[in-house]
Amino acid sequence: MIFLFSAILYFSQIQLAFSQEFRHCGTPYLHQDTTSKLFSPGGRIFEKWLARIERNEVARINENDDSIYTIPVVVHVLHKGEPIGAGANITDARVMSQINILNQDYGKFPGTPGNNNNPVGVDTRIRFCLASNDPQGNPSTGIVRVNTFREDFQFGTDNIAIKNFSHWDSSRYLNIWVVDLAGNQYIGYAQYPSIEPSWSDLYPFTGSIPDINLDGIVIRHNVFGNVPPSQSGVFPAYNKGRTATHEIGHYFGLLHTWGDGFGCDDPNGTDYCDDTPKQGTNTSGCPSSSMSCISGTKAMIENYLDYTNDACMNTFSADQKKRMRIVIRNSKSRKSIPIKDTSCVVVPDTSKPIPAKKGELVFRQIAPSASNSSFIIELEPRDTIFINSVEVYDMVGRPVNVLLSKDEKKVYLNYTYIPIGVYPCIIRASDGKIWRRKIIRR
Ligand SMILES: [Zn+2]
Repeated sequence: MIFLFSAILYFSQIQLAFSQEFRHCGTPYLHQDTTSKLFSPGGRIFEKWLARIERNEVARINENDDSIYTIPVVVHVLHKGEPIGAGANITDARVMSQINILNQDYGKFPGTPGNNNNPVGVDTRIRFCLASNDPQGNPSTGIVRVNTFREDFQFGTDNIAIKNFSHWDSSRYLNIWVVDLAGNQYIGYAQYPSIEPSWSDLYPFTGSIPDINLDGIVIRHNVFGNVPPSQSGVFPAYNKGRTATHEIGHYFGLLHTWGDGFGCDDPNGTDYCDDTPKQGTNTSGCPSSSMSCISGTKAMIENYLDYTNDACMNTFSADQKKRMRIVIRNSKSRKSIPIKDTSCVVVPDTSKPIPAKKGELVFRQIAPSASNSSFIIELEPRDTIFINSVEVYDMVGRPVNVLLSKDEKKVYLNYTYIPIGVYPCIIRASDGKIWRRKIIRR
């Protein structure tokens, strides 16, 4: 009995050490057969296709399109019958926290962990929202819960099983499956985009089912969204929602920053982005001194497509942005996604900047786009008064939780998830002054 107990303890310690040292993304493994590889990012035919598109787009100035692309998302929560909030049956709040994190990361959102001061770090102008209508047009929260009566799912062999439980038309939605993956190894994986020529249909993801039915990303439940320490299991380093940021990068055609190569001399070890210094291999943990293959140049360990801890990541580069947006505009399996329409819960651009007096409050929307859903309240910056608190209420006086983050001068509100209406808010300042304003969610 003692032996058994020690063996179990020993085994779990091994797993703990193993998981913490290495972020295991399954995307390359699921595209490793010779045909898939050719037609996937990094493969000869895919990269030829992408380079040709890029040349044509430069000629047609499409590449200068910097409009916001909003991606409607459906999250399939696959569980085994636990109550909401237990195990894989994560709460709506966890799902929403993940959507917020995606927008912070892809938007290089000021005042959040997605911000950075990297010279090549950019706002990708890609945003995410939970779909407000299902494929039949019925109102939806964009969250689907399914009791699978299954303990867990095997990475790889259960890929089809996972997606057969619940799936929305992947030509219109980004499907995200949140599941309990067996073992403590892989934490997520993505389906790469497929390319334009119809003959790519002949070479689907698995060889038997067209890849359109499998399209989307799969994330382990205990690394999805903002995960409380008590629920992150052996993955405390990946509890800030960056696994989904990483996998959606693959979904839009990004490769790992080391190009899945084997050392600096491997000519195939490239991510096809010139502004991410070539790396010989992946980076684990958060080693700030890690060097790239270029003499005297640091590795970009803060890139979302490396293997560093969630807390270390905050950068998409300009070339990564360009690559993702080319894929969204042109890939057979991405260009049909309605990035400009209103299938998402979106907020029209109703705000107009109000000229500020000293010590006055300014309400402004964070970006001039109809699909943006965040508000900033800020104090005129030269003043010495600070914001102490912001309270937002609905019309019957119930508090509404829309706070994203706050510092002394600015408060970031996200109101994607509140219904249309008028929301009185009370802002208290450090000099005792109270402002009463209204936010209009149309
Ligand atoms: Zn990956």
